Amino acid sequence: MPVKGLGAYDDQNIFARILRGEIPCRKVFEDQFALAFHDINPQAPVHVLVIPRHRSISFADFTANASQAEIAGFFRAVGAVARELGLEAPGYRLLANMGEDSGQEVPHFHVHLFGGQPLGPMLARPAG
Ligand code: AMP
Repeated sequence: MPVKGLGAYDDQNIFARILRGEIPCRKVFEDQFALAFHDINPQAPVHVLVIPRHRSISFADFTANASQAEIAGFFRAVGAVARELGLEAPGYRLLANMGEDSGQEVPHFHVHLFGGQPLGPMLARPAG
């Protein structure tokens, strides 16, 4: 079911096209529930996107409409990616943007995984 304010799932969004293999990505992990790849415009030394295969726009859409296996599989995949990238000990940050106020650009639910250096404050402070 589409999440209010975000409209219907767009099958032509860039992550849907990456999942279908129509656009290449620098893959770091994949299983039946998730795909992880390097962000094309990295904001940290490690900047990986983890996306579920389920067609969801947002966290609310994903957790309401994906199966329990898909939800568990996705979050296990996020953990596996962090472990496989060697980020457990130094630490890392997960971030997910939802909707207009967050600046979400790609309307397919995804988690950003940042690491590889001290990451600084959690949010940029608005000027003024
Ligand atoms: P968001 O603002 O949370 O929707 O983030 C979307 C992210 O997708 C941005 O960090 C982009 O740099 C990244 N991105 C867009 N297109 C691609 C692509 N083809 N391959 C990898 N990352 C991409």
